[in-house]
Amino acid sequence: MRVHIYADNAATTKLDKSAYEAMIPWLTEEYGNASQPYFFARSPKNALSEARETIAACINARPEEIFFTSGGTESDNWAIKGSALLNHDRKATITSSIEHHAVLRACASIERMGYPVAYVKPDATGIISPEALKAIITDNTNLVSMMLANNEIGSVEPIEELSAIAHSHGALVHTDAVQAIGHIPVDVQKLGVDMMSASAHKFNGPKGIGFLYVRKGAKIAPFFDGGTQERAMRAGTENVAAIVGMAIALNNNCSLMEQNQLHLRNLEEKFLSLLQTSKVQYRRNGSDIRLPGLISLSFLDKDGEMMLHRLDLQGICVSTGAACNSKDTEVSHVLRAIGLDDRYAKGTIRISLGKYNTTDDIDKIAEAIKKIV
Ligand code: PLP
Repeated sequence: MRVHIYADNAATTKLDKSAYEAMIPWLTEEYGNASQPYFFARSPKNALSEARETIAACINARPEEIFFTSGGTESDNWAIKGSALLNHDRKATITSSIEHHAVLRACASIERMGYPVAYVKPDATGIISPEALKAIITDNTNLVSMMLANNEIGSVEPIEELSAIAHSHGALVHTDAVQAIGHIPVDVQKLGVDMMSASAHKFNGPKGIGFLYVRKGAKIAPFFDGGTQERAMRAGTENVAAIVGMAIALNNNCSLMEQNQLHLRNLEEKFLSLLQTSKVQYRRNGSDIRLPGLISLSFLDKDGEMMLHRLDLQGICVSTGAACNSKDTEVSHVLRAIGLDDRYAKGTIRISLGKYNTTDDIDKIAEAIKKIV
């Protein structure tokens, strides 16, 4: 029988059973439109409020600062384009060269509209240093958008320091926290950000739902025109079931964060020690402060694509570059930006473990990699 070991949790995660169960009534019995004035809308409306409160509490925000979106891509696009639309003086946007394409392509889009964008380079471990931002930021900067954790190599960025620098120049700060939320502590007050993107399917919630945190007082243009949902900032009938599922999943992960982190660190340690015992030569990418369970490994003169397919034949799912870009066999923009030698970059795979992985999975993945390498 073909084993199935899912080790691509940075691409998406398994929906929590409790989130799934909480979603069902909103798809079956309680299907009313939350924006209608009659009694049948009352329960969905209350469910939206409750979900907003739960999510806000998980990130130390106020409920009215949470705007539901269709996921990370939309949240990133909204933060960047919505800030540009109010940027009448065409001040610059600063981002990094290791952002997800949802940020990079939204930036390319505003550049084409005549808004200047500058890109900060990371160091060899994928960290955007405060010094690198200081060297490029001016009082003519409108927005600084830097991810909280990188989806390919797991490096966690010093957002607190980067936010302070941006604010000292009067700029707004957005962070793409899609890979971080539900996995490491995220407190918007502590981070000092004005906007933050999240996506439920990365923290064991349903797909196609996410949110953008917008600090009260931060100015951003509405994204979708239409109805008055989401305080007239993001039109469209709310996906109540998905929003409820997202809140439950986030709350689950935040309540059990320490336990999940310990589990993932133990799996990681075991996996790497198995590779070392087998004398498999590799280099690990990313900084010392990394997302738990995200292991980007490069094997000299190996072909990452070939490794992925051979693991797939054994029922093991991993990734080579960014999962959202899985047809692209080019060396990823992140590995390029950290200056990884091509001989290593082409032999890179990303194993991203999740809370449902077991030590048995680790034994099988390590054994399979040993044989392939
Ligand atoms: N930002 C980061 C860092 C991601 O890893 C992803 C998805 O891989 C996204 C944004 C896009 O999120 P979504 O799939 O919800 O559109």
